Amino acid sequence: MEHLKQFKDTDFDISNIQLFRNIQPDQLHFIAQAIGHCPILRAHSGEIVLDSNSGSSNLFILLRGTLALTSNTARRQLESSTVQYFAGECVGEISVLDEEGHLSTIAAVTDSELLVIDSETMWKLIDESNGVARNLLQLLSFRIRAANAQLRNRQKVGEFYRQLSMVDGLTGLNNRSWLNTQLPGLIDNARASETDLSIIMVDLDHFKQFNDRFGHVLGDEALQAAAKVISAGLRPTDFAARYGGEEMIIILPNTNKESALVVAERLCDRIRNTKVFQNDAISLPHITASLGLAGLAEGQDGLGVIASADAALYRAKERGRNQVAM
Ligand code: GH3
Ligand code: MG
Ligand code: MG
Repeated sequence: MEHLKQFKDTDFDISNIQLFRNIQPDQLHFIAQAIGHCPILRAHSGEIVLDSNSGSSNLFILLRGTLALTSNTARRQLESSTVQYFAGECVGEISVLDEEGHLSTIAAVTDSELLVIDSETMWKLIDESNGVARNLLQLLSFRIRAANAQLRNRQKVGEFYRQLSMVDGLTGLNNRSWLNTQLPGLIDNARASETDLSIIMVDLDHFKQFNDRFGHVLGDEALQAAAKVISAGLRPTDFAARYGGEEMIIILPNTNKESALVVAERLCDRIRNTKVFQNDAISLPHITASLGLAGLAEGQDGLGVIASADAALYRAKERGRNQVAM
């Protein structure tokens, strides 16, 4: 940056500066004197005014031009959250107050002129002028609110992606990573509360044939229809996840095998009676599913109980499909 002149060599009206607004004329006079020795620098468009590593604790008042601030976290997270500053606004006040380095990078968007107030002078202004102190407080509370809003927004975005990564895109059911993270906890709960837990594995019958005959697009629709039947047929405390291709898994906490069998029979029935429609609303042959049921046995972990349900599913297939086995 290029040194232009000192502040006292200008006839700049400081009452237009955010930090010096609504200040008594005698105080304004004192301020103008106190910052008289402060330099005015020129930054050309694109030039970095302040690097996050600079460690400077100066306050910059933008007299002309535009600056853009990008916080380090924003850059790390590839966000495009850049804040722009215009004439009269200041940057760097927080590093003056806490004497820490800057957390952001500030660059000139257009050719800009900056008044640089060192921290010693800034503290003098705060000590001597309650108007400056009041404006600074106001500015800080504005910055805190903006930072909080950004944090809340980031949390929301994070939660959105977390949810997204746990949900299967085709069926809207939970996905395999959801299962991997949630099943151990559900099993622990069942053990801790000494309650039953049952698992049902669902596999659509002859689904390869269905795809071969009607194509994958309609196959997808059939799979979606089956998933919808399953999620609609469960209680709010039950869970369903897509386990793999056309296999789905249902977790029934606090449910013994007898009750789970009722649920499984009901779902098998509903899938059998579900109509899948072609785009021109002609219904396709009904799909059916085979269901394997297992209750959490003593000493079993997630993999163990899934293996038992899988073995039961295999039996249902062997016995002719379109039925439940345990
Ligand atoms: P079975 O009754 O023994 O289960 O026969 P199947 O044909 O259903 O069994 P298999 O496991 O051999 O084949 C599963 C087929 O499911 C293979 C694949 O074409 C189909 N499939 C798996 N995932 C999807 C999917 O996301 N969309 C569609 N359309 N088809 C899928
Ligand atoms: Mg299969
Ligand atoms: Mg199948």
